[in-house]
Amino acid sequence: MITKEKLKTLGELAKFDACGYPQLLQTHKKAQRFSFIYQAMGERGKTMRLFKILQTNQCENNCYYCINRISQNTKRFSFTPKELATLFMEYYSCGLVQGFFLSSGIYKNPDYSQEEIIQTLRILRKKLQYRGYIHAKILPNTSDELIEEVSKYSDRLSINLEAPEQDCLDRISPDKNFEHLLSKLRHISKVAKKLKAGATTQFMIGSAKESDRSIINLADKLYRELKLKRVYYSGFIPIPDTPMQNTMPCLPRREYRLYQADFLIRKYKFTKEEIPFDKDGFLPTDLDPKSAWADIHPEQFPMEINTASFDMLIRVPGIGKISATRIITARKSSKIRTLQVLKCLAPQSYKARNFITLDGHQPPKTETRKSILQKQLFLWEEL
Ligand code: SF4
Repeated sequence: MITKEKLKTLGELAKFDACGYPQLLQTHKKAQRFSFIYQAMGERGKTMRLFKILQTNQCENNCYYCINRISQNTKRFSFTPKELATLFMEYYSCGLVQGFFLSSGIYKNPDYSQEEIIQTLRILRKKLQYRGYIHAKILPNTSDELIEEVSKYSDRLSINLEAPEQDCLDRISPDKNFEHLLSKLRHISKVAKKLKAGATTQFMIGSAKESDRSIINLADKLYRELKLKRVYYSGFIPIPDTPMQNTMPCLPRREYRLYQADFLIRKYKFTKEEIPFDKDGFLPTDLDPKSAWADIHPEQFPMEINTASFDMLIRVPGIGKISATRIITARKSSKIRTLQVLKCLAPQSYKARNFITLDGHQPPKTETRKSILQKQLFLWEEL
């Protein structure tokens, strides 16, 4: 029998896996009402309600931050594959969810638990004829054959690296080996090339004394070498009664800045060396990273809006790719001479005014450079 407690518990526990921008996610009424509904959010605010759940919260590992760890005294639940597939379809059929995200604790051994995931997905695809979105988690140490098998039923595969190096991983997950996780991610990325939504990974932020630089450097490598679709940054939240219950939670602002730095290397051709870390390897929290870069590169400014190339325009604070395209189209007909015209083309142009010239003239400065830059940007607004 599927108890409400089982559904609630295994849904709540699955939320620790990020697969979208985190801080504004769970504002949807359905996501607030049902623990297993997760409002995944992509760039530019596009959302999808996922049925996000664990197959089981039994686990043989002992991650210090996790309530499912083997030494934790907690109530354990499991779904059978048939039970979970049928349950998902009930919620999908009535329109409450739009896709499926399935993860699991490691019960008996990684292959046993991965097989349970595969069987659930197989029932969904083959018996219940489900054609929608599936994101399946690959468990650490799963065999390569099973990774290939799970890919047959999935649109996206992911494995969590959690930390950027072994020393950091040792502080939070004594059973996990960084190089081994990385080699699995490498294999997943090959297998996932044929999948619509590719491969992703997640770092847990603020739990292992990792620096922002070490995370972004690794993310950059993963995008370039493994062609990952996305890297997610999940701020650490201490869970009562775990060994890390007294560790400070990650500030949402830090998580947010990492997403913005990630955006710059992925979409704006910034190199990892150009990301403005402080001497300890952390991003500034009072400025978004593109504004912080502009602030320490006065030699690049002011930039003439009527002649700058696309690649240079998108380096101006407040001008993103959409705005730069509009500017380049507009200036073919006539020169852009006023801030009013620029504002129509680039709504965030108040951030640009101290970094540009308009037909040779610098706009009047009404606020200090830093106070303009410090105005908060939403993640999907143009950087
Ligand atoms: S592997 Fe670690 S993080 Fe995952 S469920 Fe087990 S104890 Fe928790």
